[in-house]
Amino acid sequence: MSTADADVSVPDTPGADGQPGELTTGRVARVGDIEVRRLLPLRHRRSVGAWCFVDHYGPMSVDGVAGMQVPPHPHIGLQTVTWLLDGNVLHRDSLGSEQMIRPGQLNLMTAGQGIAHSEESPDEHDPRLHGVQLWLALPGPQRQAAPGFEHHAALPMAGRAGFEITVFAGSLAGARSPATVFSPVVGAQLHAGRDTRARLGLEPGYEHVIFMVAGTAEAGGTAISPGTLLYLPPGRDQVTLAATAGAELFLLGGTPLDQPVVMWWNFVGTTPQDIIDAARDWSRGSRFGEIPGYRGKPLPAPPLDAVRLRSWPG
Ligand code: MN
Repeated sequence: MSTADADVSVPDTPGADGQPGELTTGRVARVGDIEVRRLLPLRHRRSVGAWCFVDHYGPMSVDGVAGMQVPPHPHIGLQTVTWLLDGNVLHRDSLGSEQMIRPGQLNLMTAGQGIAHSEESPDEHDPRLHGVQLWLALPGPQRQAAPGFEHHAALPMAGRAGFEITVFAGSLAGARSPATVFSPVVGAQLHAGRDTRARLGLEPGYEHVIFMVAGTAEAGGTAISPGTLLYLPPGRDQVTLAATAGAELFLLGGTPLDQPVVMWWNFVGTTPQDIIDAARDWSRGSRFGEIPGYRGKPLPAPPLDAVRLRSWPG
């Protein structure tokens, strides 16, 4: 891991297959009591396709401690994609959804114009916790849509030369996720069942990132490790992956965003006013609703910081 907030980049790292990639180191952040590796957004790299947030946490022991405790908080303008490699987490939201998630399953929450949710290790939880939290920015028309929640108990899988690929968004290696997404994207977990090397076909119109959460691996000839993110620009139609047995990799990609994005706290907007309005509504207790069954207080929004209310791309 890098030191906190050090966002070190090595531009144009050439891959052994002759095509450039770019390796970025994430930063350490905290979500409640849990330390996370934040891989997106970074100053240097704000989004990949519609993927605009990537946190990796664990693996860690949560035996005998509270574990993940994220009180009710609001979202607008995005989908949250919750994916575990170990443990269990209970989701509740202001639509009345109450859903436990376990490894290999998908919780997909579409915020649209506004939703609130909580995420917590239940009272009786598994002793280990390991997962990723991802966000997808919603495109224009869906930003004002009604909120929604989907749970997928099982997802399609594909095999490639020793990699077991689970596709949770879009399609890859002939497997297509049933999850509802609103822009051209792909999201998949790749588990190396043995020491292996495989060539994976990519959608050339997409930009991609590859990151790993366990083990050792190379992507496009570049060594990657937990806490780093390898970016592959549009135009690639394949990447070669090599991994040792037990390695866990993720591939995310999509069509580069063509709308301005303003991200602040748990909100994704297209203008600073979107964010200001959402923060005001959360502090007033309007728009986002209540979460049935949650014991405890909601999270207050931090003070608005005008400097951070800037959009990208430019
Ligand atoms: Mn959330």
